[in-house]
Amino acid sequence: MQKGKIGVTSDNLFPIIKKFLYSDHDIFLREIVSNAVDATQKLRTLALRGEYAGDMTNAKVSVTIDPKAKTITVSDSGIGMTAEEVEKFINQIAFSGAEEFLEKYKDDANAIIGHFGLGFYSSFMVSSQVEIISKSYREGATGIRWECDGSPEYTLEESDRAEVGTDIVMHINSDSEEFLDKARISGILNKYCKFLQVPVVFGKKTTWKDGKDVDTDEDNQINDVAPAWTKKPVDLTDEDYDKFYHQLYPMAEDPLFHIHLNVDYPFNLTGILYFPKLKNTMEVQKNKIQLYSNQVFVTDSVEGIVPEFLTLLHGVLDSPDIPLNVSRSYLQSDSNVKKISSHITKKVADRLTLLFTEKREDFETKWDDLRLFIEYGMLTEEKFYEKAVKFFLFKNVDGKYFTMDEYETLIKGEQTDKEKNLIYLYTNNPEEQFSFVQAAKNKGYDVLVMNNVLSTPLINQLEQKFSDRRFVRVDSDVIEHLIAKENPPKELSWEEKNELSPIFKAVCPETKDYGFVVDFKDLGENSFPMVITRNEFMRRMKDMSQMQGGGGMSFYGDMPENLNLVVNTSHPLVKHIFEERDTLMGDDLKRIKTEIKAITKEKDELDKSKKDKKDEEIPSEVKEKSEELEKTINTLKDEQKEKLTSFGKENKLAKQLVDLALLANGMLKGEDLDKFVKRSFELIK
Ligand code: ADP
Repeated sequence: MQKGKIGVTSDNLFPIIKKFLYSDHDIFLREIVSNAVDATQKLRTLALRGEYAGDMTNAKVSVTIDPKAKTITVSDSGIGMTAEEVEKFINQIAFSGAEEFLEKYKDDANAIIGHFGLGFYSSFMVSSQVEIISKSYREGATGIRWECDGSPEYTLEESDRAEVGTDIVMHINSDSEEFLDKARISGILNKYCKFLQVPVVFGKKTTWKDGKDVDTDEDNQINDVAPAWTKKPVDLTDEDYDKFYHQLYPMAEDPLFHIHLNVDYPFNLTGILYFPKLKNTMEVQKNKIQLYSNQVFVTDSVEGIVPEFLTLLHGVLDSPDIPLNVSRSYLQSDSNVKKISSHITKKVADRLTLLFTEKREDFETKWDDLRLFIEYGMLTEEKFYEKAVKFFLFKNVDGKYFTMDEYETLIKGEQTDKEKNLIYLYTNNPEEQFSFVQAAKNKGYDVLVMNNVLSTPLINQLEQKFSDRRFVRVDSDVIEHLIAKENPPKELSWEEKNELSPIFKAVCPETKDYGFVVDFKDLGENSFPMVITRNEFMRRMKDMSQMQGGGGMSFYGDMPENLNLVVNTSHPLVKHIFEERDTLMGDDLKRIKTEIKAITKEKDELDKSKKDKKDEEIPSEVKEKSEELEKTINTLKDEQKEKLTSFGKENKLAKQLVDLALLANGMLKGEDLDKFVKRSFELIK
């Protein structure tokens, strides 16, 4: 028997392994089982080449647990190892600069194992002792038995093992007894080994008999050695693809469609990506893309490995060029991984282009489910954007779909403003903004539905790309002003507006979220008497700040929103209010107005005399007089405002009209709604 010390420069490897590799103990089984699979495949290859005479057709890897002996054994009938090979592959591990590296990657078992080629040694994370019992396929080879108890000392001796292959016997340590549980091992195998290329058997299939599970004669093979992505697309039907999808995600709804990836230059990549139905949400997708390396599961957190928008897809990617045992940060900076990422983006865009050009109708029926994904891609990947602008679809309120070009042609005539900007009208809620949509349609405009979480950023992006296009939500202004044309309708003067607004301001609600600015426009007798609009810019800033949750934009998010109450000066009901005002206090107001006018005139003349004079040249009595006049004007104005305010407060019709405008915007609630209903009864009487 040979005794020796494992070739490590660090004093004792195992405490380090145990200390640092606590995060992901599960992977020991992946490492040991995939070594067994590798060994089996190597021998299969030799057999195919005629260099090994044994029968490899039914070769398999078995995993067994012995709860009594507290062991897990992984057995294969692969190439095996001679004593020299054990010496070379197991006993000599390159282990320099270890300390520093371990410190850096202490939370990343994958990185450590990968860095040192410690696949086999990861078994010590869960074992107090490990045995290798092996016999090489080489002619005349003798069996060997290697044993190590977690100190650098090992023993290596001959064994009487007769059959070619290897058993790895792991004596599970007291902290790791959870791994002696059948369900636990089943779970790990199912996660990491589900698609390995050699059958992996874990006990026997069971059946329910006499009130308990009993073993049958049939092997419980846990893997599918030839999953769909390893086959040729021509050999697969749509059903096969769907079936495989459910093999990956048993609980999921059918996907929309798939892309089968198959690249062999400049890197190797196979895989199938599925488009799930996304609807209007981007809630964390539970069915993540799974990343494999030669059918060995690597990870299902592909963030940073594929572009972010692609993480919304489902399916598998398999590339032997994706290193199995490395840290995430290493993966992300790996040049192969980067190439893979941009390649997938291109493939996805091409697939969507093809679907769009060849099956436009089908594409349209899927659009609502695809839209969010495509918008996300356009917003985050320039390369994807460039392709996607050609198949991106606008949907209007009538449910019709248009490409960007088609839509431009449609609206160019009616919806170009006087500055030659193309104005895209949209609604984010056709129900709530019904009257605005209707008004726009009546004017011959078309209205788009832009109603998902990415609409606002997408609109911003499109406006940046096309400087002569603007998006305007239908409720952001009254219809005459939505698209600014030549000859805007005549408006009241600033003074006239100032004189009228207190009446309506008096009946506008004021909350911590919004306040009102009153404006007056001639909207014609047949329009509503009052309309509430929301400034496009402010609203969008608020939307964006909500999406980003604080940060620089929260300035807008925290501010109360200023809504516009637009009073239609030519509506009979509004005119009626003005008439009431005149009968009630017309004389009073007239008096105040004349006084203001007279005093303003006096002050203007005084000011004229002051013009061109330096401050010290103006006599002090002139200055005082001017100040006094100013004060009187202000007092009069205040009086006027007060009178109008109290008139407004008492005016049921004004209140009723404001409430109706609020109601039309879904903003009348609770006590105010109750009061409105009661007031309505009174007014009907
Ligand atoms: P890696 O697999 O990354 O090379 P490991 O530490 O897992 O590193 O294994 C080291 C070497 O030991 C393998 O490359 C292989 O030559 C040998 N080996 C491990 N397990 C087996 C096995 N079951 N059968 C034959 N050889 C094995």
